Amino acid sequence: MAAPQSYFDESHQLVRDSVRRFVEREILPHIDEWEEAEEFPRELYLKAGAAGILGIGYPEQYGGSHEGDVFAKVAASEELMRSGSGGLVAGLGSLDIGLPPIVKWARPVVRERVVPQVLAGEKIMALAVTEPSGGSDVANLKTRAVREGDHYRINGSKTFITSGVRADYYTVAVRTGGEGFGGVSLLLVEKGTPGFTVGRKLKKMGWWASDTAELFFDDCKVPVDNLIGVENAGFACIMANFQSERLSLAIMANMTGQLALEESMKWARERQAFGKPVGKFQVLKHRLAEMATQLEVSREFTYRQAAQMAAGRSVIKEISMAKNFATDIADRLTYDAVQIMGGMGYMRESLVERLYRDNRILSIGGGTREIMNEIIAKQMGL
Ligand SMILES: Cc1cc2nc3c(=O)[nH]c(=O)nc-3n(C[C@H](O)[C@H](O)[C@H](O)COP(=O)(O)OP(=O)(O)OC[C@H]3O[C@@H](n4cnc5c(N)ncnc54)[C@H](O)[C@@H]3O)c2cc1C
Repeated sequence: MAAPQSYFDESHQLVRDSVRRFVEREILPHIDEWEEAEEFPRELYLKAGAAGILGIGYPEQYGGSHEGDVFAKVAASEELMRSGSGGLVAGLGSLDIGLPPIVKWARPVVRERVVPQVLAGEKIMALAVTEPSGGSDVANLKTRAVREGDHYRINGSKTFITSGVRADYYTVAVRTGGEGFGGVSLLLVEKGTPGFTVGRKLKKMGWWASDTAELFFDDCKVPVDNLIGVENAGFACIMANFQSERLSLAIMANMTGQLALEESMKWARERQAFGKPVGKFQVLKHRLAEMATQLEVSREFTYRQAAQMAAGRSVIKEISMAKNFATDIADRLTYDAVQIMGGMGYMRESLVERLYRDNRILSIGGGTREIMNEIIAKQMGL
């Protein structure tokens, strides 16, 4: 099932081929072991950096390539998902939610030091917005940063932070002003800063290969230069950042559905029951046909929004729709794939077992299904 050629040109195909080779060489031989260990080697960041994968979509001056090229990023994300591990993709790719605010809005002195290290895979980047008191209501976050001369003093905590244990740099959402969205700012916090500690690695339903952590700030002092953008204007930065994250999550969901369909097709052809391949039973044939249809529609709609974003158009409503649609379809496809594979679909050795667990987070992270619906309804004037 080839992607529509109109969205991808030759340079995107080169990106796709090179990321696919990287996944086949560096990830697939080890991924089952890494999933069970709930960790992949830190060295993989360096390898992905050296292969130019981490830099896709970022400015050349910092070691990136294909700056702002949405479909280069889509092609790379799709191929990384061929690892069959959402956790690995989320962990290796945590720079894609933490770094864009630094690239766009950090002070030059910070940007020029941090961005090249992260794109080279020498340093790991995380984004810390969610707090123990809640993640959906970003405008009411509680972690406070008080300006005292040439630094901010931070107190509070964050939770569910991807790459939280291993990261070196954290883009942290804090309250520098009054109540509501107008009092939120972004600050860069570095590992090792006094008053900043990382809590336990959290156990999860899926995304095992990624580390997820709690963070604590106890009179943690960071220089004023670490302010990202303008003080009290952080909320708009966070919301802008969410747009590309939601596209990535929709792409991850569509690829999860693709892998689930491929595994189901293989099984339907090979597994025999009542003297014929199970895929010859009409009920399974029709289910596979419906799975393929739902996936095509979802992928096409997602690509369409990616194309709009590539053209610089605002698709706040549509990208929320794409995320909800794609994650919903992938939930159904992974459920169906487990069913089609019977008992084997429930076994740890089956890829679909992991896909089923991993997909569950996609309608929660980066804004829940309900929050997406709130955004869509608001854009509809409701
Ligand atoms: C594996 C994993 C990785 C994550 N990685 C990161 C990360 O790297 N950085 C980060 O900052 N966060 C991260 N998160 C957090 C994630 O973004 C939040 O879990 C998510 O935004 C939801 O927040 P919450 O869990 O606090 O749920 P809550 O906000 O407490 O919501 C609880 C329920 O209420 C619903 N709800 C809330 N408000 C409304 C409303 N207005 N209308 C209708 N329903 C509503 C929600 O949809 C949900 O069903 C991660 C989470 C997980 C599980």
